[in-house]
Amino acid sequence: AMFDNLSRSLEKAQRLIGKTGTLTAENMKEPLKEVRRALLEADVSLPVVRRFVKKVEDRALGTKVLEGVTPDVQFIKVVSNELIDLMGGGVGAKDLEPGFPQIILMAGLQGVGKTTAAGKLALYLKKSKKSCLLVATDVYRPAAIDQLVKLGTAIDVPVFELGTQVDPVEIAKRGVEEAKRLGVDAVIVDTAGRLQVDEDMMGELRSIKSAVRPSDTLLVVDAMTGQEAANLVKAFNDAVDITGAILTKMDGDSRGGAALSVREVSGKPIKFVGVGEKMEALEPFYPERMASRILGMGDVLTLYEKAEQAIKKDEDAKKMMDRLLEEKFDFNDFLNQWKSMNNMGGLQMLKMMPGFNKVSEKALYEAEKQFESYAAIINAMDEEERTNPEVIIKSMARRRRVAQESGKAEAEVSKLMTAYTQLRAQVGGMSKLLKLQRAGGNQE
Ligand code: GDP
Repeated sequence: AMFDNLSRSLEKAQRLIGKTGTLTAENMKEPLKEVRRALLEADVSLPVVRRFVKKVEDRALGTKVLEGVTPDVQFIKVVSNELIDLMGGGVGAKDLEPGFPQIILMAGLQGVGKTTAAGKLALYLKKSKKSCLLVATDVYRPAAIDQLVKLGTAIDVPVFELGTQVDPVEIAKRGVEEAKRLGVDAVIVDTAGRLQVDEDMMGELRSIKSAVRPSDTLLVVDAMTGQEAANLVKAFNDAVDITGAILTKMDGDSRGGAALSVREVSGKPIKFVGVGEKMEALEPFYPERMASRILGMGDVLTLYEKAEQAIKKDEDAKKMMDRLLEEKFDFNDFLNQWKSMNNMGGLQMLKMMPGFNKVSEKALYEAEKQFESYAAIINAMDEEERTNPEVIIKSMARRRRVAQESGKAEAEVSKLMTAYTQLRAQVGGMSKLLKLQRAGGNQE
């Protein structure tokens, strides 16, 4: 399957780095070569691979190995992060640009699955309750128009066409006018592809683009294209300034390299992937998911995340302690305190505290409900109220607003104010104790 070699190479890289010591330029040399080889085998273009490997090296040298994590796992984590980054991570699936109607221009070479993708996209939009119009402008191949009409019939989406005797730019323009007249939410303009990048095709695309001013210009790329994908994406992006790509035939035995090139060479995201011939076979593209599919190393990464969470817990506890010492305790702390108690097995913890061991299960359940209600109220507060509780404690108007926004009774809000003030007083007491303890400790 796709990227088989990469996960095998990474396993090898892991063995080479081992579980002790730190990541150094020296011990990463061979593992990085493994990564490089695997990416080239996956058909990623050479410049993209070079930049990627360099980034992994820099990042790996720059990061401290996380406590509780062995260097080999750290290395895999860096590779994973960089992969996600390369494919445009950080933000969720890139959806289509807004517009009324949304106008989506499809571009791409012949045979890549452009017409199929147009149909798939129409069905995708239809499923999210958007009405659609498909526009057929490939006047060079009557079969292409027929194909789109057939697809439209199959998914019950109207297709606008004017045969093969009208200029494609004119068809596109009138198609969009028709879409506006019909009041549909989206119009998808299919265009003619060529076997290779050529100036006629780009010229026509440019003309259609300036005539209809699409919200999206999507380049359809066949995942099988391999190394050539990088040049192709660059050529189209330079010529018509695409907004994103659809990568098709990801279900086939492509080596997947194209997925890594699109963003790198164009700065534009892959928005969807085609995973079959059926109209339903279109998925939004999620870089994180793709990266984990490529790596096939879920276990290793889970290990890393566990260590990370453990450290975060420690840090949270320390932060809380620091705030205690500063005698700061606002609604955020109130909520965090509850949240961390919840993480550690919820209010069951209370049972272990002196004085609380007689608490019944029912009482515990009720306490938990109570805190949930407090959380809803605190979530309805604005930042000032949360960090400077006096503001809301003193203002009936603010309390009323928060009650309304959280859907809780005003009495419930008052109850929270009391609970907060009491807890703060207790925290103040704890803080004094802590300070005394520290002062005592320093004298030893
Ligand atoms: P166009 O010339 O770019 O419009 O390409 P078509 O839409 O006619 O598709 C060319 C061929 O690729 C057809 O046989 C499609 O069924 C097939 N195809 C398109 N998308 C996919 C896909 O995601 N997976 C697979 N397996 N086949 C696809």
